[in-house]
Amino acid sequence: MRLLLIEDTARLRDLLAESVHDAGWRIDSFGTLADGDAAIATTAYDLLLIDLGLPDGDGLDFIRALRRNGLRTPILALTARAAIDERIAGLDAGADDYLVKPFNHREFLARCRALLRRAAETAAPHLTAGRLAFDPATGLLACADQDVPLTRRERAIMEILMREVGRAVQKRRIEHALSEFGDDISTNAVELVISRLRRKLGSYPSGAALETIRGLGYLLRELKA
Ligand code: CA
Repeated sequence: MRLLLIEDTARLRDLLAESVHDAGWRIDSFGTLADGDAAIATTAYDLLLIDLGLPDGDGLDFIRALRRNGLRTPILALTARAAIDERIAGLDAGADDYLVKPFNHREFLARCRALLRRAAETAAPHLTAGRLAFDPATGLLACADQDVPLTRRERAIMEILMREVGRAVQKRRIEHALSEFGDDISTNAVELVISRLRRKLGSYPSGAALETIRGLGYLLRELKA
């Protein structure tokens, strides 16, 4: 396991790095977002430990940007911001867990273990069709290792279609999935999302086609290479 730590307080950085090291994991630690970012770009980490108040930027914005770019690595946010709103903002930004300073180093290690374990458990089953790969754990779609950005509605539909590759999915099932977003589901709404999704898939070398089956629903078909 290899962890990355971004923390600007040198003493805390050294303490945490030592804890992690003693736990038997490798760790690279940095004092700025810029240095951490450069390391993330070139190294595959199993867990990121990110302080939110850093000299060269806000950790929350940084986490948000990582997730937007499709990074799936678990993130533990470390912060002195204890207010409930701050914690919610941290989780909403894409952190998997949140630890408020000052914290006990045994609890810190336990949370690291929990995140690493969860990551290992969900790493397995990707759904695939053609050159598309969908990760149900994160909701991320990739085409030949390139991330395909999806809206929440597109993601819900894509998951159903990817689970039923080569089989027709009734329109009713898609309507039901969309209704979970609190939408007023008109037949049009489904067609709108489907046609957007079809256009999106068409702009990648996906090796799959989203077909409409009149009077029944939709089908994701793998194209012969
Ligand atoms: Ca700080």
